[in-house]
Amino acid sequence: MKLHWKILLGLSFGVLFGILMTFFSWGNHFVADFIKPFGTIFINLLKLMAVPIILASLVNGIANLSDLNELKSLGIRTILLFVVTTVFAVSVGVLLVNTIQPGNTISPELKESLIDIYADETSSKQEVASQQVDRGPLQFLVDIFPENIFDATTDNRRMLQVIFFAIMFGIGIIFIPEKKARPMREFFSSFNDIGMKLIDFIMIVAPYGVFALMATIVTEAPSLEFFGALGLYALTTVLGLIILIGTDTLWVTLFGKKSPWFFLRGIAPAQLVAFSTSSSAATLPITIKQAKNKLKVQDHIRSFVLPIGATVNMDGTCLYQGVSAIFIAQVFGIDLSLSAQLGIILTSTLASIGTAPVPSAGFITLVIVLAQAGIPEAGLALVIALDRPLNMCRTVKNITGDAAVSLVVENSLKKSKFKS
Ligand code: ASP
Repeated sequence: MKLHWKILLGLSFGVLFGILMTFFSWGNHFVADFIKPFGTIFINLLKLMAVPIILASLVNGIANLSDLNELKSLGIRTILLFVVTTVFAVSVGVLLVNTIQPGNTISPELKESLIDIYADETSSKQEVASQQVDRGPLQFLVDIFPENIFDATTDNRRMLQVIFFAIMFGIGIIFIPEKKARPMREFFSSFNDIGMKLIDFIMIVAPYGVFALMATIVTEAPSLEFFGALGLYALTTVLGLIILIGTDTLWVTLFGKKSPWFFLRGIAPAQLVAFSTSSSAATLPITIKQAKNKLKVQDHIRSFVLPIGATVNMDGTCLYQGVSAIFIAQVFGIDLSLSAQLGIILTSTLASIGTAPVPSAGFITLVIVLAQAGIPEAGLALVIALDRPLNMCRTVKNITGDAAVSLVVENSLKKSKFKS
């Protein structure tokens, strides 16, 4: 059986098992004590591989470039596509939320009770966000440059620092005489191969890991009470994400010259893992593996585009922030002018770039989008109940976008080489 079917089975059985367990008084405890730990082990294994695989694959990829011009073309195309697709994503969200107007379905009573119930949870997220804002506008830039690489590798949230170091190290290898560079090239090449092999092993247990994660998510899910009431908001977001996965597939077909089926089948296992972990960082090893084995993206391209994409390219998150901000404004009866909505597009783009590739990080940076647009932050309580399920969905889109960009960049570089 193909891996994506196995993972899908694990996911479905996990959901069913979780639902079944909620019928027993001991069910939730049983899952927490005996199933959840296996999900945690699976996520830990994935996270464990993230930093070594970035280091090995990126150094290996860059060190094998013929010169810096190749890196320049790769870098410019990648960053440009990340920005364009992110702005496109939030624009789709803004268009949808203005058309569907989910905010109009929320009664003032429901609004008050949501704000009441989630007040504490909301204010703790606001605190985290304000710490981020207090650090100054250019702090994100400073954060890319580590002062100690060993320290940087101890925190998956600082993956950009590891990426920066790996790129510098790879460039260093290009610039030293071949005789001296060869041992390092060989070292990183076999380091990379070993990393890929270890991911193979982890993928064998992926269906079980996903089972455990889904069973846990279902038994830990907050009450379903508000799911119906917030249904149209959730539907708007999910519809937007589906449209974006559709457009990614279209870009891959038009500009990456790969069939939609080839793309979707190749990336499916990573999408399923993203859905159950809600983390682009944890999913990264699987995304890289699928890009290598199934999408056949060249070494240096996938090892450059995918780690950077996982940390900065968050189209799904950006759409979510645009939809949520305008939804909250609608509930509060705030009429947003065109320029205010353009402001939301801009701040969502920047906020999504600054979002860490971990669960719920997009919710924290949503606070910043609301603050900039002058939308009451109390409104966060309106969307917090659905953060987890929407987080699972937006992470799927986030990693799909990274894979799509890697294919488009690859084809565009092939073309430019052909011309020159
Ligand atoms: N969890 C998302 C990711 O890792 C980020 C977010 O919270 O939107 O891609």
